[in-house]
Amino acid sequence: MLRSRILWKLFSGYVVLILLSTVIVGILVSRQVEDETLVEIEQSLDVRATLLRAVALESFSSDTKIQKRIQTLGLNTNTRFTIINPDGTVVADSEEDPTTMDNHANRPEILAARSHGHGITTRFSNTVDKEMMYYALPVEKEGVFQGYVRTSLPLSVIDDRLSHVRTTVFFSMAMSILVALILGFIVARGFAKPLTAMTAIAESMSGGNYNQRVSIDRKDEIGSLAKALNKMARSSHERLETIALDNNKLLAILSGMVEGVVAVDKSETIIHLNEAAARILGISSQEDVHRRIWEATHSQELCQVFSVALNEETEIRRKLKIVASSTDQIVEVHASPFRDAGGELVGAVAILYDVSELERLETIRRDFVANVSHELKTPITAIRGLVETLIDDEGISPENHRIFLTKTMNQTLRLSTIVTDLLALSRLESVGLDLIRAPLDLREVVTASMQVLLPVSEDKNIIIKSHVPDEPVEVLGDREALFQSVNNLLDNAIKYNSEKGAVTVHLQIDGENAVINVRDTGIGIEPLEQHRIFERFYRVDKARSRQLGGTGLGLSIVKHTALAHGGQLSVESIPGTGSTFQISIPLIKTS
Ligand code: ADP
Repeated sequence: MLRSRILWKLFSGYVVLILLSTVIVGILVSRQVEDETLVEIEQSLDVRATLLRAVALESFSSDTKIQKRIQTLGLNTNTRFTIINPDGTVVADSEEDPTTMDNHANRPEILAARSHGHGITTRFSNTVDKEMMYYALPVEKEGVFQGYVRTSLPLSVIDDRLSHVRTTVFFSMAMSILVALILGFIVARGFAKPLTAMTAIAESMSGGNYNQRVSIDRKDEIGSLAKALNKMARSSHERLETIALDNNKLLAILSGMVEGVVAVDKSETIIHLNEAAARILGISSQEDVHRRIWEATHSQELCQVFSVALNEETEIRRKLKIVASSTDQIVEVHASPFRDAGGELVGAVAILYDVSELERLETIRRDFVANVSHELKTPITAIRGLVETLIDDEGISPENHRIFLTKTMNQTLRLSTIVTDLLALSRLESVGLDLIRAPLDLREVVTASMQVLLPVSEDKNIIIKSHVPDEPVEVLGDREALFQSVNNLLDNAIKYNSEKGAVTVHLQIDGENAVINVRDTGIGIEPLEQHRIFERFYRVDKARSRQLGGTGLGLSIVKHTALAHGGQLSVESIPGTGSTFQISIPLIKTS
């Protein structure tokens, strides 16, 4: 409190005011009192001179005892009395022997008394050796001038009285200043204390602490100010909480977004970066905020997008390749400038859509269309050639005619197979998990499939063996699709087997899954090709596949069937030794 500047400002102003007014009032009062004291002394000298006039009248009629009487009077009243003849000779004096005194005819007070009826003067008296105040009156008897009476007081007496007056005034002044100062301090403190308390609260509010309140219960403006301050703290606190809540919601929304959001200010410093943007750009959402965009990312193109949005104050869309992690990402960027409430440019915000997957799917779609066209074109071209030859060549032998028709038939069958496989694949993709699902025993599916392919394997001198468990292996599934899948795997195992090779089908229960392994002793697949053979139309050896009647869609169908049943398809293969394809599908849950 003692350090409070407002207290000392209020108090010092008050002190100056009090001192100034007290000194002015003191001087005025002191002057007034001095003047009045002098008038009073003058009047008392006049009264005494008037009284002395009666005594003097007798002395002018030669009173020999006058000197004695005057001395007694002088002693009793502490006043010097002098009776002077009209010629200036001193008749009697209360303090000196009149015979030794000079002629007083030219004394200023005597001269003034003669001309003005009374005379007053202050001067040094050689007779009594002091500064004196003299008051003289002329004395008349029945209109005849008799002489003068003079009363006088030493100035020291007057000074004593004046100094007493001054002391009293000074003491009163000092006392009133003291009282005023004490009261002033109390009043100033009464104002400064709540102001200091309110300043402290306001300062802590500016530091973000809105929990403190001023406890001032006054009915004046300071009380109103304190109430207003408390109200402001409360409403600011509530507003801040709302803002923080909204901010948190916004941050939660931004961080939950799949799209990346990056905002930069005018100097291209990152001011916000959500998790998705950090992931896409391969930077940190915490550490890279507050860094320049070109310091945080190596993508020149992205920096350029921000520069254009900021410098040209325009929206911009671009598709960029961002090399952030091991894989390249194709990102569609939509950047636009943003402004404050006054329309002033604040920065730019960009939304990043990771379209890598879309691009990949688009590439697959394009390849697929190209592949389908190609696969369909080949048999159609062959059919067309064969049919044209049959039409144009009228002399064709019946033998050749039959061969051409057989070839046409084979190409038609190939077309039919491709279309059937495409339809199966399309059905799997569009229906997916909505396949007809009924409980079925995989033992029956495997056995039936083997029965179908047994003649084919015998033709090729390939032995087929199967191992199925004694207990049922029940899954929820689409029998036709599963039957087709096992067929495809067995067909491949026969097709890509070696002369006098073997195929083994193994059905077993592994934990919660039913597992079908189809093993062959065939040509095997190179490690680099193994993950590609599940792609549509992908064939390791196109010519051989085509020659064997393959469409390149078989494994795709098996893979999608497994996925649609909640399972998966995998392969293990050693080139030149053989391959094992494995389908695993969840068993029906018994509990
Ligand atoms: P295709 O109709 O050509 O057989 P698939 O989708 O069934 O098409 O198989 C794709 C490719 O995978 C085949 O062309 C073949 O190169 C390879 N492949 C499939 N099964 C085997 C296997 N058991 N042994 C070796 N290669 C195989």
